[in-house]
Amino acid sequence: MELDARAKINLTLDILRRREDGYHDMQMVMQSVTLADRLTVTPARGAEGQAASDLRFLPTGNKNLAQVAAAAFREAVGLGGEVDVDIQKRVPVCAGLAGGSADAAAVLRAMNRLSGAGLSPDRLAEIGARAGSDVPFCVLGGTALAEGRGERLTPLPPLPPCRIVICKPPFSVSTPQLFGRVNVRKIVRRPDTAGVVAALEAGDLAGVARRMYNVFEDVMEPRRYAEISSIKAELIDCGALGASMSGSGPSVFGLFDSEAAAREALARLRDSYRDVFLCGPGPAEFPAEV
Ligand code: ATP
Repeated sequence: MELDARAKINLTLDILRRREDGYHDMQMVMQSVTLADRLTVTPARGAEGQAASDLRFLPTGNKNLAQVAAAAFREAVGLGGEVDVDIQKRVPVCAGLAGGSADAAAVLRAMNRLSGAGLSPDRLAEIGARAGSDVPFCVLGGTALAEGRGERLTPLPPLPPCRIVICKPPFSVSTPQLFGRVNVRKIVRRPDTAGVVAALEAGDLAGVARRMYNVFEDVMEPRRYAEISSIKAELIDCGALGASMSGSGPSVFGLFDSEAAAREALARLRDSYRDVFLCGPGPAEFPAEV
């Protein structure tokens, strides 16, 4: 079976509190995008399933999130057997775009169909939580409010049609370090999550775009923060309705209502950056459920 593993962006990312167990309670409006890895999932040739990708530095075997998800499915359902997963990697790695989680989620959807298990989307998302906190959202796709560690999902009306430019600057950010720098009581700037949800309900793209924000931006190292800010400024200068960082970064994205303006941003950012993409909002994976 061949399928797309769509990446996600955070229209908002807020941290509500630090929990007793050391994790944080998050509140995020997540949106899947058409930028995707291409996966081929087949019954394993050998006794154990393999994961192979066109990126040499990605883990293979059972360290690859695609195989972690396959094992979680087998363990939870007792069906599915060993699978080989071939990944054409298009989503940049360690970018705040949940590329690995997207692969894991795509494997779960494939195994659900190949095995005939026919689990409900919610059950599949629940199994996905064992492979990572962004996997449940990637199982369902579309637009959703994610709470808790990211596993409590409420589907939202889709982002109105638009163009999305994503730019990943060439450095990576350590997610645990970022969380370490957040002092929840001292967060001064937060996204207007309720306003974004209301704008989605009203089909108001500009209303969504101007309320987006990611609280991790404020705790980036100053040099990194300056680069994130300059990419956002470039996107806005080209006509983006709004721009924000995704997840724990460093990818930055802008929402556009004009194809020409989005193409202008793509061209300008490509003068300085290698990883720049033009895509659109991704659909819900189980539309009947939304
Ligand atoms: P998030 O937005 O969920 O924080 P991310 O975009 O920052 O995720 P990913 O690209 O999902 O990060 O990958 C993070 C780590 O997972 C990398 O260290 C990578 O080696 C490992 N990994 C394992 N399997 C995969 C996979 N199939 N694709 C990408 N990364 C993988």
